[in-house]
Amino acid sequence: MNARARLPYAGLSDVGRVRSHNEDALVTDPPLFAVADGLGGHQAGEVASSLAVETLVHASPRRPDAKALGRAVRTANRAVIEAAESGRGRTGMGTTMTAAMVEGLRIAIAHVGDSRAYLLHRGGLRQLTEDHSMVADMVRAGQLTEEESRVHPNRSVITRALGSDPNLVVDTFEVDAEEGDRLLLCTDGLTGMLVDAEIARILAETPNPDTAVQALVSAANAAGGHDNITAVLVDLSSDAPTEPVRAGAKRTMLAIVAWVLAAVAFVGLAGWGAWAYARSRAYVTAEDGYVVVYRGVPGEFAGVQLHWRTLDTTIPVSSLDPVQATRVERGVPVDGLVQAYEYVDSLRGDETSPAPTP
Ligand code: MG
Repeated sequence: MNARARLPYAGLSDVGRVRSHNEDALVTDPPLFAVADGLGGHQAGEVASSLAVETLVHASPRRPDAKALGRAVRTANRAVIEAAESGRGRTGMGTTMTAAMVEGLRIAIAHVGDSRAYLLHRGGLRQLTEDHSMVADMVRAGQLTEEESRVHPNRSVITRALGSDPNLVVDTFEVDAEEGDRLLLCTDGLTGMLVDAEIARILAETPNPDTAVQALVSAANAAGGHDNITAVLVDLSSDAPTEPVRAGAKRTMLAIVAWVLAAVAFVGLAGWGAWAYARSRAYVTAEDGYVVVYRGVPGEFAGVQLHWRTLDTTIPVSSLDPVQATRVERGVPVDGLVQAYEYVDSLRGDETSPAPTP
């Protein structure tokens, strides 16, 4: 056992009192914490938010680096877009994401949508993130007050979410907290039901993080529970560890573990290497008479297919000149998706287009 205390944190998600499904998702995996609020209905929101947090966990950096965390959120964005395109979930599904990495008193944030990060500092609550929502834009433009925005009919319309724009802009920044500050991540099911002063009061009155998130969720439900409610709370301290610290006593055991891990890593790396190589490649081929683009490489590796269909074009192979058509039928490997799309564009030029009608 190491003597250092566990980083005190808690997370809780609740369906609320009106919705039949909980489309929120959360991560409490120190040093990474996140909330995501899925959109799309008919359970697609659940697919989007859970896929986004899974991808975030795999793609997140090891240390609180806001830019790197932002890149992980963009990776999650692409995962949601690709899932919608490939028929997992639905077209139009999306999710918010507010992610934080914590190391001591340092916090890195990456954020998209209208979920929020707050810092409770000496009893006062400061919203760290800006909502990407229609009403927040109107408040910033002086067209609405904060109070009016809470009851505006379009209050749930968000202007940025994961799942639609491949060039998604992610807000990223870092914050230095003080000893005893609390970091709160939450979805709009909490902030739509409770004003900031009420959230601050509950947090100030409830030192235990588990009890505090339960109290927040209970209060939001008592206020109506109109939406799914998710809260993640992290108590910040300069001596709280963010990664497990291993003692050096049992060296023999550790050596065995190290060898086993090395063996597993070797096998894993071979697979990962093949996967990473495939992800960097692309090829253009023909399917059902039309030109299509795949990311990856044709065939299999250790029984696993390493290609993912990314584009169906409307270019019939029959419209290409015979040499190009033969090449495409056989498959044209290229260096990456960008090159694949450029190649497809060049094929469009070869299409024998019908004469324009006046
Ligand atoms: Mg919500």
